[in-house]
Amino acid sequence: MKIIKAEVIVCAPGRNFVTIKIETDQGIYGLGDATLNGRELAVATYLEKHLIPCLIGRDPFDSEDIWHYFYRGVYWRRGAVNMTAIGAIDMALWDIKGKALDVPVYKLLGGKSRQKLMAYTHAQGRDMEETIDKVAEKVAQGYQAVRVQSGVPGMKDIYGISNDKKSYEPAIIGQKPIEESWNTSKYLNYIPKLFSKVRETFSDDLHLLHDAHHRLTPIEAARLGKELEPFNLFWLEDTIPAELQEGFKLLRQHTSTPLAVGEIFNTIYDCQDLITNQLIDYIRMTIAHGGGITPMLKIASLAGLYHIKTGCHGPSDLSPINLAACLHFGTAINNFGIQEYMGYADLTMEVFKFSHDFKNGFFTMSEAPGLGIDMDFEKAKKHQYKQAYLPVNRLEDGTLHSW
Ligand SMILES: [Mg+2]
Repeated sequence: MKIIKAEVIVCAPGRNFVTIKIETDQGIYGLGDATLNGRELAVATYLEKHLIPCLIGRDPFDSEDIWHYFYRGVYWRRGAVNMTAIGAIDMALWDIKGKALDVPVYKLLGGKSRQKLMAYTHAQGRDMEETIDKVAEKVAQGYQAVRVQSGVPGMKDIYGISNDKKSYEPAIIGQKPIEESWNTSKYLNYIPKLFSKVRETFSDDLHLLHDAHHRLTPIEAARLGKELEPFNLFWLEDTIPAELQEGFKLLRQHTSTPLAVGEIFNTIYDCQDLITNQLIDYIRMTIAHGGGITPMLKIASLAGLYHIKTGCHGPSDLSPINLAACLHFGTAINNFGIQEYMGYADLTMEVFKFSHDFKNGFFTMSEAPGLGIDMDFEKAKKHQYKQAYLPVNRLEDGTLHSW
């Protein structure tokens, strides 16, 4: 089998998505998600101008060699743009392999390690009351795990909350990012009170998660983790900027709250110290930004040696193709933890055809060959890309801070 053509599809059914479609001489094509929120065209151009020309004529079954060809062969290794492009190709190659052999991809990765996959969703409110109502809504929908984010009294903006009643969409259409503001002390004073109320309102069995979005120092995160211990969180996510992996040592010494990180990592070298020193409990890298299924299997194997489970990043700014790839990966590995799932806009699901079933907070896999995902290419063309950026974030005195 040979790759004869590959194209990049940039579309915006509800929001911007980048997809690679790789075609073979046997009439089979594979799809991969190449979406990098706010930097979409960088990945699209990199694929079109530099990677696709080197793919033509290759055997799609040689996914391991193709991965190393693009990872090592580029000389300039790592980085989000580079790894998202490689990840999309790798995803599409596994899709082709599954279709060619007429099996779902998970059967090529080790088969079924579980019958269903638990997902967590997001509940967010502008204040405590609205947040409790949103958690109740998600519980009524059958979710057993909910990420809880709330507006903080005295703060205008906060990560994960929209200022109106609309669903939360952080990427804003425009030529420049919007600017938000942040106050760590108000946040730290409020979050334990919020979780006290949430735990008091809902069953002890409900899994609660929270995301600090890289905004704390290690000692601030240590205080938060310690104060949240009575409320038994499933995980506390992205407390500190993780470029400094050693920062987790200090945090880990002070709290037994389980820690999750990794959505902005793109290679095993971003989490190697965190894993081998047992500084985290969940690794949140996702297939699209982690360089594809091929390297993520290796990361999961390393993590499994150290009692660490997966919790793949899966917000609605990655396409349903990435979600499908995460589900095949999560079905096959032993140390699956949980899958993030926010749902998608109706418009998104008109373009992306998703075959896996979701009910009462759990996914079950379809037996469709490949990733079990397809696209309506004609409909995709009708939704044109619009430039959009994630916000930037400043402290109240104007200092640039992590968003
Ligand atoms: Mg996060």
